[in-house]
Amino acid sequence: MTALEYANIIIDISHEKVDRLFQYRIPDRLKDKVEVGCPVEVPFGKGNTMRKGYVLELTDEPNWDPDKIKEIAAVPEDKLGAEDISIRLAAWMKRYYGSTMIAALKTVLPATKKQNTQKHKFVSLRMDLRQAREYYYECASKKNQKARERILAELLLAPDDRIPYELITQKLHVTAATLKSLAEKGVIRIDEEEYYRKPIAGDSDRYGAKELSPEQQGIVDSFISDYDAGKRDTYLIHGITGSGKTEVYIALIDEIIKRGKQAIVLIPEIALTYQTLMRFYRHFGDRVSVMNSSLSPGEKYDQMERARTGDIDIIIGPRSALFTPFPNTGIIIIDEEHESSYKSESMPKYHARETAIELAKLVPGGASVVLGSATPSLESYYRATTGQYHLFELKRRLTGGTLPQVEIADLREELRTGNRSIFSRRLQELMEDRLNKGEQAMLFINRRGLAGFVSCRSCGYVFKCPHCDVSLSEHRGGRLVCHYCGYEQPLTKICPKCSSKYVSSFRAGTQQIEDEVKKMWPNARTLRMDADTTRTKGSYDRILSAFASKEADVLVGTQMIVKGHDFPDVTLVGILAADMSLHASDYRASERTFQLLTQAAGRAGRGEKPGNVVIQTYEPEHYSVQTASRQDYEAFYEEEIAYRDLLRYPPISHMMSVQILSYDEELGMQFATRLRAIMEQNKRDGAIFIGPASAAIGKINDVYRMAVYVKMDDYDGLIAYKDMLEKYIHQLEDMGKLKKISVQFDFDPVNGF
Ligand code: ADP
Ligand code: ZN
Ligand code: ZN
Repeated sequence: MTALEYANIIIDISHEKVDRLFQYRIPDRLKDKVEVGCPVEVPFGKGNTMRKGYVLELTDEPNWDPDKIKEIAAVPEDKLGAEDISIRLAAWMKRYYGSTMIAALKTVLPATKKQNTQKHKFVSLRMDLRQAREYYYECASKKNQKARERILAELLLAPDDRIPYELITQKLHVTAATLKSLAEKGVIRIDEEEYYRKPIAGDSDRYGAKELSPEQQGIVDSFISDYDAGKRDTYLIHGITGSGKTEVYIALIDEIIKRGKQAIVLIPEIALTYQTLMRFYRHFGDRVSVMNSSLSPGEKYDQMERARTGDIDIIIGPRSALFTPFPNTGIIIIDEEHESSYKSESMPKYHARETAIELAKLVPGGASVVLGSATPSLESYYRATTGQYHLFELKRRLTGGTLPQVEIADLREELRTGNRSIFSRRLQELMEDRLNKGEQAMLFINRRGLAGFVSCRSCGYVFKCPHCDVSLSEHRGGRLVCHYCGYEQPLTKICPKCSSKYVSSFRAGTQQIEDEVKKMWPNARTLRMDADTTRTKGSYDRILSAFASKEADVLVGTQMIVKGHDFPDVTLVGILAADMSLHASDYRASERTFQLLTQAAGRAGRGEKPGNVVIQTYEPEHYSVQTASRQDYEAFYEEEIAYRDLLRYPPISHMMSVQILSYDEELGMQFATRLRAIMEQNKRDGAIFIGPASAAIGKINDVYRMAVYVKMDDYDGLIAYKDMLEKYIHQLEDMGKLKKISVQFDFDPVNGF
């Protein structure tokens, strides 16, 4: 029920036109029906033809002469179509994450830049198998035929398959020129056609359908028996890498498709590798389609059309694939659900997990959500143990060798015995060994905590905030600052614990490590992967392909290198400074470290040969390091959830970060203080206020960044505060008083600010 007089309505629902709103009066008889997001029928234009629109805003302020404002004619009550669902989802996002309706709509509505019906190309093997194999060996024996070797290896794996052309050029990095020349030689065939339709949905018993293990089958049976009983739920599959989760997803999708429904599969962009995608193509053929950020708006539109019209049943993609307009979504799968890329960093700062669960409630007949991870987020595991989600476990690795042997190198000890290099003696020893054997190594450094925590290199003591239990970071002028509450202390040069002089902030980059490797092992061939080397399109995949085809011995990189790819010849992983992520200045630092260490360790020994992992750290006794080295998720969880409980951090409680961006630092701080005061004047039970404080990255492009935090057990209480602040901010904006400042909300933040 609204007491407000007017509704601002959008008539043309399209991504491009969301800004064009029309105002209508809400007649009394409809006041209990009209709400944000609901469809309405309105007289439109000169002829007053009836059009369908959606309510985006409710207001008491007429935009123009009130006598000329027309009335809403009706609120239709048909069943929800794809468009209605999108609008409702946007309305939910606006409320739940605090953004404008327009920003929310732009997120959920796919772009509508049309493109001419595209021909699609497929590549298949043309030579007979024996000839093809010979040609493959010929390429493999030459240094400059790596691309040919790669494509032939794939085609030989499944000689009857047609592989989408784009997948080969984008993910395998075989150029169009190479493909053309292979076609001219008669090695491959390139077919061009409009979408090929498979006659029967769900008829997909092609390659790769494995007979499931009893554990895997148990998950599928349990899911399907719920599903057929009409129960829709959220399920968490906790299973180490290689335990067969992807195979379970494929089996679940099979069952869902047989029931006439469609599937959305979210995979972090970084893990959308050729191998993973081909597993879905091999099984589902052209009923599956892939979304990724390198598609043009036209291509994206094309995918959306295919989903709308029933041309495909399955979409695979990153976060934004959630908004694929299938008529009957039955399942939403989120692989690697703990990944921080599932949280949007621009407004609305939505999380794909919660948004998927909301969407699952809105679609006709309801959908179920399946989350999968080897290192579930604290949120999901907490909900699984408290019965909000259903928990499945996969405990065994099915293939891919034994788990690697993990060792911890104590950097304090190294310093004590005179080793000042960035490599511990144990890591040096293993590097020598692997380089001699011609096996590969990955060296990994986490850049996240770059803000610079300060520690004692002799005893490992870390300077922490006495109020928030997060690391203090070094700021100009010799200050140590807490990014939650603003607590400050001067930087001392003497360790308060052991009185040594080795107090310093920790900094090391990938470039420096690569240089160091070249210095110590001049013959080692290195590749580097970080933000600098992956700036151009496709460079990420290209570096990985080069490393996979053994064009280098050592891959040095940031967290990007621990995702997705399998390298059977990597038998050594060195984690150079586990502490960098351990002491990032936010409450998720330990969780992120555990995930990274566990995943990085899992990179070693994926093939036949056993692997070694060395974790270098100043804090070998920290529970993130200890539990990760044993690959013991439960033990980590118990420690971590106790810490969150003690300090009322999510998922035990909820947290809202009110982020203020300002060209003027002092003005920003004053404003932040004002926002806190407004909330405190309207104190709600159980609210805890922190800040304002400068953000971890205090200034970007001359814009100062600061935040106020509110912690509360009750999420709705946080929303009430958000509404209160939004109102205040709008008033200031209307008075033209908020020129140099903007405000964003982030609920249960995942990415540091
Ligand atoms: P995850 O997604 O958990 O990393 P995958 O589904 O990729 O695990 O499975 C890991 C490996 O085990 C893959 O090579 C896959 O082909 C194989 N695999 C999975 N399930 C089975 C099964 N039931 N029988 C035989 N091999 C399997
Ligand atoms: Zn010390
Ligand atoms: Zn603090």
